[in-house]
Amino acid sequence: MRITVHGGAGVIGGNKIHLDLGDRGVFLDFGEPFDLSGKYCTEYMRPRTGRGLRDYLKLGMLPALDCYRPDLYPEDLPRATMAPIRVDALFLSHAHFDHYGHAGFLREDIPIIASPMTYAILRANSEMARVGASTELFDHVVREGKGGEPRVLVSPRGKGKEVQGRQWVITGEPVEEDPGWRKGSACCVTEGHGELNGIEYLAFPVDHSVFGASAYAVRGGGDWLVYSGDLRMHGANGESTRRFAERVRELEPKALVIEGTRVGRPLPEREMTEALVRENCRAAVEEGKGLTIADFSANNFERLDTFIDIARRAGKRMVVTHRDVAFLESVAKVDGNVRKDGLWVYRSLADKDLEAVESLSEKGWQVADPDDIAVDPGEYMLCFSFWDMTKLLDLEWEYGTYIYSNSEAYDLKQTDNLQKLMNWIELFGFECRGLAIVDGRLDFEEGFHSSGHLSMDDLWQVVSSISPEMVIPVHCAYPDLFSEMCPVRTVLPEKGRTIDLDDR
Ligand SMILES: [Zn+2]
Repeated sequence: MRITVHGGAGVIGGNKIHLDLGDRGVFLDFGEPFDLSGKYCTEYMRPRTGRGLRDYLKLGMLPALDCYRPDLYPEDLPRATMAPIRVDALFLSHAHFDHYGHAGFLREDIPIIASPMTYAILRANSEMARVGASTELFDHVVREGKGGEPRVLVSPRGKGKEVQGRQWVITGEPVEEDPGWRKGSACCVTEGHGELNGIEYLAFPVDHSVFGASAYAVRGGGDWLVYSGDLRMHGANGESTRRFAERVRELEPKALVIEGTRVGRPLPEREMTEALVRENCRAAVEEGKGLTIADFSANNFERLDTFIDIARRAGKRMVVTHRDVAFLESVAKVDGNVRKDGLWVYRSLADKDLEAVESLSEKGWQVADPDDIAVDPGEYMLCFSFWDMTKLLDLEWEYGTYIYSNSEAYDLKQTDNLQKLMNWIELFGFECRGLAIVDGRLDFEEGFHSSGHLSMDDLWQVVSSISPEMVIPVHCAYPDLFSEMCPVRTVLPEKGRTIDLDDR
């Protein structure tokens, strides 16, 4: 068994891990490298869709391997320059962009294996936001060279267009049998243990800050390699991470590829759990006067459920955007939790949103108009973030509490956005919890957010419990420190360098 880390070596995220099993090959995640996209791009300046793979390869965001859709090669990027590689499947750990964000580039005959919840979230995502070929995970219109300029790729429209699908393998049974929802040419469901294209694997649910996260064990030449994806123990599903560790220990794995996100990061005064976050947010809502804004990551459904519960107990109407509802409806097909009672959809006064809100109203969703909210703002909790601030210009109110229940800023772009958010909060006169400006700098109040990743103590506990022959850290900015602290022999990956596990 040989492993090559093409993304995620010595950096946080962007995992692209290739496993050569001899006569088979797989990728473990195929995400966008945030280190490189942050270095060169902004929200409005991205690699050009019309240049297919070329911009991504030139920027080092994709490895030069022959595993991509043939329609994404512009004329000035010969496929023959790509190194041969065998890929029979992509094992997707969870629905975070640094894990799935480039999967749409992979050849369409490469099936994707994921949990039903990851499938559900990514299905909703694909319908809400298309950012080009990189996230075309279910089907796509085959690109072709533009007439007269074959270096530019375009999507044909109308009758002449060809649509390609992709096979998905879902590692469990969704609660709702809806054939129309199961997109992908041949969805099939396994019981978390299966064989696909001759590859034996096991899938394990783990706890993370997005529902549906999975870890995997893949077998090659009699040995098992275990891949953790992102995981933690301090959320509502923490027990699943413990069970994963116990079960893979029995496999006596040759190697464990595990995330080390929090290695080298400052230790918090107190380790935050989701349960503590819930208590702190509940207290802040109950103490606050007037309108409440709850700001948390859009796909953190565990936090959403927390705030739904807080709003219900406080007797407030919880208001979400129509985009949130698209995710909620998809998630409900898997967990059966229709979060409709006590939830209102915000009637956004943006022209493009009106129709979407209207169709939800016809489907029975309750709609909150800004004028309704302005009549009695203390009755409402709005799930808004920085990107929704202009909506608040439609309202008048006297008092309000803004609860920032989201992660710290890890780069200049996030810092800039949060400083702008604080300007909006000042403009509206909110009392803010979870975030403040102190001496001109952002100051994150502990207790309103918990990490999606293992604390260092939990990390070493998981590693010791699994007890593999060797550990390969990924999604880790301080691999040397990881190696120093890890209780098991550590092999540090370098981007693009192949490690032969049989020689180790
Ligand atoms: Zn993640």
